[in-house]
Amino acid sequence: RAKLDGRRCVRIFEPEMDVEMRSRVLLERDLRQAVAQDVVVPHYQPLVDLRTGALVGFEMLARWPHPTRGMVPPDVFIPLAEDLGLIGALTEGLMRQACREATSWPHALTLACNLSPVQLCDPGLPGAIRAVLNETGLLPSRLELEVTESALVGDLALARASLGQLKVLGVRLAIDDFGTGYSSLRHLQSLPFDKIKIDRGFVAGMADNIDSGKIVSAVVGLGRSLGLVTVAEGIETETIAGLLRDLGCDIGQGWLFGRPVSADQIVTILSEEPVEHRAVPAAA
Ligand code: C2E
Ligand code: MG
Ligand code: MG
Ligand code: MG
Repeated sequence: RAKLDGRRCVRIFEPEMDVEMRSRVLLERDLRQAVAQDVVVPHYQPLVDLRTGALVGFEMLARWPHPTRGMVPPDVFIPLAEDLGLIGALTEGLMRQACREATSWPHALTLACNLSPVQLCDPGLPGAIRAVLNETGLLPSRLELEVTESALVGDLALARASLGQLKVLGVRLAIDDFGTGYSSLRHLQSLPFDKIKIDRGFVAGMADNIDSGKIVSAVVGLGRSLGLVTVAEGIETETIAGLLRDLGCDIGQGWLFGRPVSADQIVTILSEEPVEHRAVPAAA
């Protein structure tokens, strides 16, 4: 019986899988071309000092404008680029463009870029980033590399070696989506991070979930006692910004302060709003 059902299943789903497969093959072809032609572009989201409200930098978030599918989100094409072995080339192209653009921002502003977990296993990574810094002239201390915790579950020794080499370049390192991975505390202790980015899930939960608030409070305390800068992502309301400020969280990011925007729009933000005069969001 099960066998029969199984066979029927296969027959029923075969055409659909075919469509799915074909769609994926097309997307793969398009992504190869997009990477080769630098079609994937950096967008930027503001990072704000929670105490003063001043702009302190931007996180680069990749966007793929696709001719027929519209804006393809990174959650779709980054994993695909990893599978296709394109992530190194994609990151390098994006970082070169973002670092070049960042050299025209006020010097106090930092640029944060995300690295894929698989890139920590690439022995060519530190050299590629050094080359981008040399080429663009961006001061290494203005570049911050964000690594998600899931990057650290694989070969920890390899990740440590890779992060150590990046640190030698003079860039800063942040652990991203903190709280969603494994053995976080060991990573904080044994790896050269400068920053903790608290995952959006905990931050969003602070408004109505006491436990989320307690977790964020504990992470901010942990970060401070380890001498790390704490960043909260996904801040959508002034209430949450106020709660985070009261906890002593250093930096905020989220729709309250600004959505990711294109390089053109950044120029407008910077010309209209002097960095040091940005409005402080009212505490709740
Ligand atoms: P992430 O590094 O944790 O980036 C934060 C994500 O939260 C971004 O999603 C951002 O748009 C979103 N976000 C920021 N503030 C808010 C808010 O207030 N509310 C809500 N609902 N969302 C907010 P995005 O741009 O879709 O990127 C998703 C993930 O894709 C990133 O998460 C990062 O892991 C990855 N990613 C993006 N660009 C790159 C890249 O160039 N290279 C690599 N390897 N990964 C990237
Ligand atoms: Mg990030
Ligand atoms: Mg994050
Ligand atoms: Mg996140």
